[in-house]
Amino acid sequence: MTTRQHSSPIPDQARKRIEELREQINYHNYLYYALDTPEIPDAEYDRLLRELQELEQQYPELITPDSPARRVGATPLEAFSEVRHELPMLSLNNAFSDQEVFDFDRRVRERLGVEHVEYHAEPKLDGLAISLLYEQGQLVRGATRGDGSRGEDVTRNVRTISAIPLKLDGSGFPASMEVRGGACMTKEGFRQLNSAQEHRGLKSFANPRNAAAGSLRQQDPGITAQRPLTIYCYGIGAVKGGNLPDRHSAIMQKLRDWGLRISPKAQQVEGAQGCLDYYRIMAAERNQLPYEIDGIVYKVDKIAWQEQLGQLSRAPRWALAHKFPAQEEITRLLDVEWQVGRTGALTPVARLKPVSVGGVMVSNATLHNQDEIERKDIRIGDTIVVRRAGDVMPEVVSVVESRRPPGAPRPQLPDRCPVCDSEVVRLPGEKVARCSGGLYCPAQRREAIKHFASRRAMDIEGLGDKRVEQLGKKNLIHNVADLYYLRQEQLETL
Ligand SMILES: [Zn+2]
Repeated sequence: MTTRQHSSPIPDQARKRIEELREQINYHNYLYYALDTPEIPDAEYDRLLRELQELEQQYPELITPDSPARRVGATPLEAFSEVRHELPMLSLNNAFSDQEVFDFDRRVRERLGVEHVEYHAEPKLDGLAISLLYEQGQLVRGATRGDGSRGEDVTRNVRTISAIPLKLDGSGFPASMEVRGGACMTKEGFRQLNSAQEHRGLKSFANPRNAAAGSLRQQDPGITAQRPLTIYCYGIGAVKGGNLPDRHSAIMQKLRDWGLRISPKAQQVEGAQGCLDYYRIMAAERNQLPYEIDGIVYKVDKIAWQEQLGQLSRAPRWALAHKFPAQEEITRLLDVEWQVGRTGALTPVARLKPVSVGGVMVSNATLHNQDEIERKDIRIGDTIVVRRAGDVMPEVVSVVESRRPPGAPRPQLPDRCPVCDSEVVRLPGEKVARCSGGLYCPAQRREAIKHFASRRAMDIEGLGDKRVEQLGKKNLIHNVADLYYLRQEQLETL
């Protein structure tokens, strides 16, 4: 890191960009923390924040105490009374590459003067950090993280979550103990909540974390009670009148014995390589897990070593969040095209400015149907959030309205089929519009043959979607019956 020794003039451009970035980050902080409705994906937010941090490092004269690069989180909403965290709820440093994990482990070993370090590794849940205070084994307070030092008192809401014990099991717990965890929603619970929201004409949530946050910060605990919330505990805060084991992993086991929920996937691993092996296993399991995770957290297991390492500004030196490649990115919607399916249904497909999402280039995404376009208020030329998870087709999640170009047009459902020019009809009560061409429509014919040959129907070996397209293009098949008249020589010409 180089610091500027002499005060050379600060370019206007840098000054202006810093102002712009602060304004944007404050705006997104407000959407994210106060309203639980983020407009941009985390990856984009991280880029804005990193750019600001780098500029402030380059021009320290421009640092102000209220810069969003200096603090992370939100000041509590007035709707809740304020809770001061006795020990601050720190945020974690992030790593995005293997090298950063090796560097972290090296720094830890050098500071401690040891050869080997054992880490506690567990999935980083995409949830909302909360603090639970137990006194004499009774849950007396639940609070959000807030800005790390001040959070919101959400005791009444927290008490409705069945995974949180109101009273600890067994014995031996300290007289006063603050437990920390992530409140979250399963993928299934999130899907159900969103479809119920849509059904009632309410806004849907961008992701399970925001759904969890929005559910926990309800004025009416009755609403929180109906939301499918759960919790995984991952640490402790202030402890009085009692002792806990000297290793993080052993403390977690204690919490489990006392009836608190901890991650069943947590493991102790050895050194940086152990961390990376664990990371790869969880990355492969990620899409099968019932809840969303966005990375792995590594913590030095020995508590004495954690204390020795301490913290730097607002992050502990003994922990690291190793993030998975982002599943959401932003890009531009270039156009909307309509694909004709087997039953004539017209499906809108988004043509995107190619963007890398989780390491794969994405240039098309599904928009599901016309209603979805209207509900999400999607316009051509919009900056949109695209999501790709596992092997399913990428989808357009939402629009970044603050970046909409003036006069951006709404995508129009065509009057006539883009393939056969037959009339497009939408029957009352139907979600989709259809080409009325029936088997006259080449697109419908082709899709019908694909379906016939597919595993769900006749399961004709060697006749996949690609082969059907080829046969159709060569005019060798027009309907299902033609399949039975195909000759060996014709197939060999393909
Ligand atoms: Zn058609």
